[in-house]
Amino acid sequence: MGGDRLNGANAVVTGASRGIGRAIAEALLREGARVAVLARGASQLRDLAQELGGRARPVKCDVSNPDDVRAAVAEITGWFNDVPHILVNNAGSFALAPLAHVGPAEFAATIDTNLVAPFRLMRAFLPGMIARRSGHIVTIGSIADRHIFRENGAYAVSKHGVRALHEVLRLETRGTGVRATLISPGPVDTALWDPINPDTREGFTPRALMLNTAAVADAVIYAVTQPRSVNIDELRLSHS
Ligand code: NDP
Repeated sequence: MGGDRLNGANAVVTGASRGIGRAIAEALLREGARVAVLARGASQLRDLAQELGGRARPVKCDVSNPDDVRAAVAEITGWFNDVPHILVNNAGSFALAPLAHVGPAEFAATIDTNLVAPFRLMRAFLPGMIARRSGHIVTIGSIADRHIFRENGAYAVSKHGVRALHEVLRLETRGTGVRATLISPGPVDTALWDPINPDTREGFTPRALMLNTAAVADAVIYAVTQPRSVNIDELRLSHS
């Protein structure tokens, strides 16, 4: 289903080359937005942008790299001639390891991608959004932003952190015209699960009982198409 509810809106989606981010970018495009799609894999991004058409622009960016983020922010604001109306902080990494085994570098890399990067992008665009009195920052959290699972040390810390970041943002932007939404899905069937192969491991949700990416994209569209007077603070999604 598509519409024109976001005609004239400019959006940024991180981690948009596959999985949840791709579904979000496609849904925003269907509603008429222009969308900057960010990821590290340049060729995948180029192919995707070609498939998505002229309102999508590939921006190669490792969100955990400050220089890449600076360059991406300059490219995006140049393309839009302004800060975006919608920022979806979606890019994330996920790996399982017990705390006795997880390496410090691996821990720090997860925090950089899942927590520091959303802050960097938010920080780049927020002053302009506040000055314009419009903008919407959507954070993709996780069931793990409230619930604790084994072998989830780095991921749980990053997602609890990003929920806290969202909640501070929500308080600080109330009444400014800038909106903030946290969307926290349970397991979603994407390539993120490939190395884990949950169907063969006890205690994991089998793929057939996972959400699909469209459910998360629908939640984003619901949040960003509310009347300006309505802020969807938080949506938590689980398989029925
Ligand atoms: P995928 O692994 O399928 O896709 C991840 C996307 O992020 C890819 O486009 C990838 O492209 C990009 N990406 C990864 N690291 C970086 C980086 N450092 N800089 C820029 N882009 C990056 O993941 P999902 O779609 O499953 O997950 C998306 C988000 O949803 C994550 O934040 C995840 O934590 C969250 N989530 C996922 C759930 C699930 O069960 N799948 C459940 C709840 C939340 P490239 O590798 O080319 O950079």
